[in-house]
Amino acid sequence: MICPRRFLFVSTPVGPLGSGGGGGVELNLVNLARSLLERRAEVCVLAPEGSHSADLPEGVIETVTGLPPPYAQSQRRDQPVCLSTPSLVANLWQRAAQLQDQFELIVNWSYDWLSFYLTDFFRTPVVHIVSMGSLSDAVDLALEHIAYRYPGRLAVHSRAQAQTFAFARAQMAAGRDPFVYLPCGVDLSRYDFVPEGNGALCWVGRIAPEKGLEDCAALAEKTGRPVLLLGHLQDPAYWQQIQKRYPRAQLDYRGFLPTSQMQQLLGQCSALIMTPKWVEAFGLVAVEALACGVPVITYRRGGPAEIVSDGETGWVVEPDDVAALARAVERLDSLDRSRCRHQVEQHYSLPAMTERFLAWSEQIVRNPIPAAREGGDRQWYY
Ligand code: UDP
Repeated sequence: MICPRRFLFVSTPVGPLGSGGGGGVELNLVNLARSLLERRAEVCVLAPEGSHSADLPEGVIETVTGLPPPYAQSQRRDQPVCLSTPSLVANLWQRAAQLQDQFELIVNWSYDWLSFYLTDFFRTPVVHIVSMGSLSDAVDLALEHIAYRYPGRLAVHSRAQAQTFAFARAQMAAGRDPFVYLPCGVDLSRYDFVPEGNGALCWVGRIAPEKGLEDCAALAEKTGRPVLLLGHLQDPAYWQQIQKRYPRAQLDYRGFLPTSQMQQLLGQCSALIMTPKWVEAFGLVAVEALACGVPVITYRRGGPAEIVSDGETGWVVEPDDVAALARAVERLDSLDRSRCRHQVEQHYSLPAMTERFLAWSEQIVRNPIPAAREGGDRQWYY
């Protein structure tokens, strides 16, 4: 295999690496960069000012200034494309354009219209790791264009995420899948296996409406079990509402912690509860919990339902059904925590993710301007 050796990563502009604002993208990006560096590849990460990671050698992250765009998940679908000025997304890509000839592949981790649109204008191939499901008409159109013009350049994390894109469903119905699938992996040496839970539940994620923390609060009231709550406080008003609405829920919020501390607390718990209100693209925290031996109880909505093996490494229940969550909590004792760890070892390790990524990038570099699919050579108007 002739693998590319020089990678330029363009991070998400929604928050500096290390802040938690970028969600699972932060850990994924850093993990993959570290893993590639260990394989003697060259990696440069362009990321927002303030980005830091103890896991990457000095000089790997180059920071770029500018204002972040609004969160895609808080915008209407038909919202016009909107850039703050000075624009961080534009500045990231301007720097990428300056550096492009030093690299064989540019990897975009952002979910911004501009990042997708600019694919046409780079000499070095740009691939995209799409981290969320369909949220914006403008982004969907840009992705559809890439799917036609540059087959193989779009990666997603789960089948459920892929299905949220109407253009992808149409292509799949015609027998073509426009996506490469890149499930995430974690470094198992960083997660301690804990053979027994302490009875408490855990909820991990950005505190924002699409994550559905209110259902976990309702579950806490219903079951009387304490819930350890970890994650970036993205929407303080939403968090206050939940505390007011569920005064009897024992929610022990510890803030956003580094992975080492997070996994230590998470590993003690009897289950991770995932209650997404959107189609979760992957749900990296599910894999992190399983790595510690913690079973996952999740709604059948998005990536977590593909990760959890129902009745073996957790329970998958119907979306928005708090009573079903409560019943699943009662059945936790029938699950074997070592199976949880084993599932991650088998399917979601960092080496497995790195291999998948390298196989993908090798294909792109071998064939940087693929034959466009039917309609790919047509003039494309946005
Ligand atoms: N996380 C963390 N410390 C915390 C809570 C969460 O590092 O205290 C990280 C977690 O490891 C995961 C990310 O936050 O990488 C959440 O990612 P996920 O894919 O679950 O959801 P997203 O925020 O991307 O929608």
